[in-house]
Amino acid sequence: MNPLEISIDFTERPYIVIWEVTQGCDLACVHCRAIAQPNRNPLELSTEEGKRLIDEIARMQVPVFVLTGGDPIKRPDLFELIVHARKAGVRVSLTPSATRLLTRDVIHRLKESGLARLAISLDGSYRKVHDAFRGMSGSFDRTMEAIEWANEAGIPIQVHSTISRHRTKSRIFTGNVMCGCAEAGGRVFTYRLWKQWPAAVRLSPRASEARWTLLRRV
Ligand code: SF4
Repeated sequence: MNPLEISIDFTERPYIVIWEVTQGCDLACVHCRAIAQPNRNPLELSTEEGKRLIDEIARMQVPVFVLTGGDPIKRPDLFELIVHARKAGVRVSLTPSATRLLTRDVIHRLKESGLARLAISLDGSYRKVHDAFRGMSGSFDRTMEAIEWANEAGIPIQVHSTISRHRTKSRIFTGNVMCGCAEAGGRVFTYRLWKQWPAAVRLSPRASEARWTLLRRV
């Protein structure tokens, strides 16, 4: 069933649970609040602890369960966790980072494991804008490839985009790219920058509302 069509009694369960499975990530995004680092944190939940968490989510019958990070692809047990969730009846969404780790083979393995949705970030319609925001050259190209591979594998896509000062000049083009994603069956999801994010990229409330209005039309 489409999770958007499920009615929830919030006194019994949340609509969504998000597990930050790792702090490890090879990107260096301007807005990162995860204190991401290249290596995984040894205090992360083990595979067995993760499976117990998933079992609890299954018992609560939470409609949407998201594995995020850091970069969840950094965890070698990611596929095992997704298989475990699928068998327990938990619908899993994933937000990987667009790096060299996100290959065509990985995306097809995610599909085989039972991934329900792949969310990918697109923060500019130019390589230059997106890659500068994400702190790695090649990230824009990998994002576009990942969208293609997910379509090929038959995984529904959700496009995340950050509304901020960095993309003021590319907002129209980004809107066009996101329209294309929406037409291709993807859902568009946008973030606003938080107050505590760096002033260099943070929009004023008025400018934020203007971007929001523009994107609402996508
Ligand atoms: S992809 Fe996420 S975790 Fe990695 S640096 Fe960017 S914001 Fe931080």
